[in-house]
Formats: sequence, structure tokens, C-alpha cells
Amino acid sequence: MTAPTATAPGNLFIVAAPSGAGKSSLIRALLERHNDGSMQVSVSCTTRAPRPGEQDGVHYHFLSVERFQAKIDNHEFYEWAKVFDNYYGTSRTVIEETLQQGIDVFLDIDWQGARQVRDAYPAAQSIFIVPPSLAELEQRLRTRGQDSDAVIQQRMAKAQAEMSHYHEFDYLLVNDEFSATLANFEHIVMARRHRMPLQQARHAAKLKDLLANDG
Ligand code: GDP
Ligand code: ADP
Ligand code: 5GP
Repeated sequence: MTAPTATAPGNLFIVAAPSGAGKSSLIRALLERHNDGSMQVSVSCTTRAPRPGEQDGVHYHFLSVERFQAKIDNHEFYEWAKVFDNYYGTSRTVIEETLQQGIDVFLDIDWQGARQVRDAYPAAQSIFIVPPSLAELEQRLRTRGQDSDAVIQQRMAKAQAEMSHYHEFDYLLVNDEFSATLANFEHIVMARRHRMPLQQARHAAKLKDLLANDG
């Protein structure tokens, strides 16, 4: 796997959580607050069937197993994994090109994908989101109203397996009250954006002026 250089100007954020903990809602809300083109969510490919209201190319690129396998064979994925009996993967070119443009990228992926991305791109920052309780997690999956009872049971059964990987991540958010979690999520992202090497590059001219002898 060839990674872009760790000095790509955009920041790469990995966000993982058990299904229903709120990761898609948090990423969506953050992007709405920063709709200046400075951040994007990566649209994954999947072999899962679209849920009601999900649009191809917006929520996912929905592919047949055969087309997904062809992309694996052609090394088109930055990472891919089998989750809940379906395949999910992140396209390589989208990530690399977006980061090179200085745009921050969010990956909504599972722990297996997170591991692959961390190995390929050590500068990536990873955030794990947990629900306040298992009962609340199940309630959210039911309230979302997009999965059958059988699918909800399957996701609840896998939730603890996903959560057992929480310690592999750089940050942990407990998504109890949504707006408080969103604020903390935003703080993590903003702190990362203001790290010295990035700020030096962004504000090179200003820093030169500030330090000029004739000023
Ligand atoms: P959700 O968990 O309710 O949002 O249901 P989805 O079917 O959309 O996603 C199921 C799982 O697959 C979640 O853990 C996602 O984070 C994960 N996932 C989605 N896209 C990708 C991807 O591109 N790569 C990997 N490795 N996992 C993904
Ligand atoms: P994920 O992407 O992790 O599967 P979603 O973002 O789809 O989770 O959230 C699952 C459901 O829970 C959605 O109906 C969402 O509106 C709701 N939800 C998310 N965060 C909270 C929260 N802090 N409090 C109450 N409901 C929430
Ligand atoms: P500030 O003045 O605090 O440095 O940032 C001004 C605006 O630029 C804020 O909206 C902030 O989020 C955004 N910003 C700050 N640093 C970066 C960065 O490294 N990359 C991008 N894309 N936006 C940044």
C-alpha cells in the first residue's frame, strides 16, 4: 500500500464506533458547521444494499461483490474490510488527492480499516465514539428506523466486539448529549489544524512580516 507523504497539507481523521453510536451524525453536523470546503467525508464503496433514502455516490458507492473484488484486485482501495457480511472500502485516489489539496478528510470506517489506515498513514488521527450505554445504543438503532429487527440484533451482537478496540484510537468521545459531543469533536479537529508545521506553512508570509527587522 503506497501512502501519500505524511506531510500532505490536509489532515486525515479516522472515526469509528459501533453501529448506531452516532458517528455519521457527528461527521455530518461538523461538515455543516464548516461548509467552506475545508473538510470532506470520504464516500466509501460497499456491497451492502442501500437503505431507504440512501443515494448512490452520496452515502456510499453501492457495488456488486464482483465489482468490489475487481477493485481489490486492482489495488484501488486505500483500505477495505468485511463488516457484517458485507465488504466496505475506501478509494485510494480520492483520499490522496483531497489531502494533497489541503482539505481535511474524515473516514467513517470500522476498526479493521482503522488499523490499515494507521499503518499506511501514521499522521492520521483516530477518534473512537461510544454510546452512553448498550440500552441507549439499541434505542438509537430502533429510532433511526432503517434496519430490520434481525439486522439490529446482529449489530448489537457485534457492538461489543467493535468497542473492544477502543484503546487503539487516539481520542475517545462518549456520545451522550449530542451538542456537547459535537463541540468536543470539533475541538479535536481544530487542535489538529493548528499544529505548528501546518500553521508555519499556512502563515509563512505573515510570520516573515512579524519577524522582519524593518517592522
Ligand atoms: P452504520 O454503522 O449504521 O453506519 O452502518 P453501515 O452499514 O453504513 O456501516 C457498517 C460498518 O462498516 C461501520 O462500522 C462503518 O464504519 C464501516 N464502514 C463503512 N465504510 C467503510 C469503509 O470504507 N471501510 C471500512 N473498513 N469500514 C467501513
Ligand atoms: P452511526 O453512523 O454510528 O451508525 P448514526 O449517526 O446513524 O450512527 O446515529 C444513530 C441514530 O442515533 C440516529 O437516528 C441519530 O439521529 C441518533 N443519535 C446520534 N447521536 C445521538 C445522541 N447524542 N443522542 C440521541 N440520539 C443520537
Ligand atoms: P485561524 O484564524 O483560527 O487560524 O483559522 C481561520 C479559519 O481557518 C477557521 O475556520 C479554521 O477552522 C480554518 N483553518 C485553520 N487552520 C486550518 C488548516 O490548517 N486547514 C484548513 N483547511 N483550515 C484551517
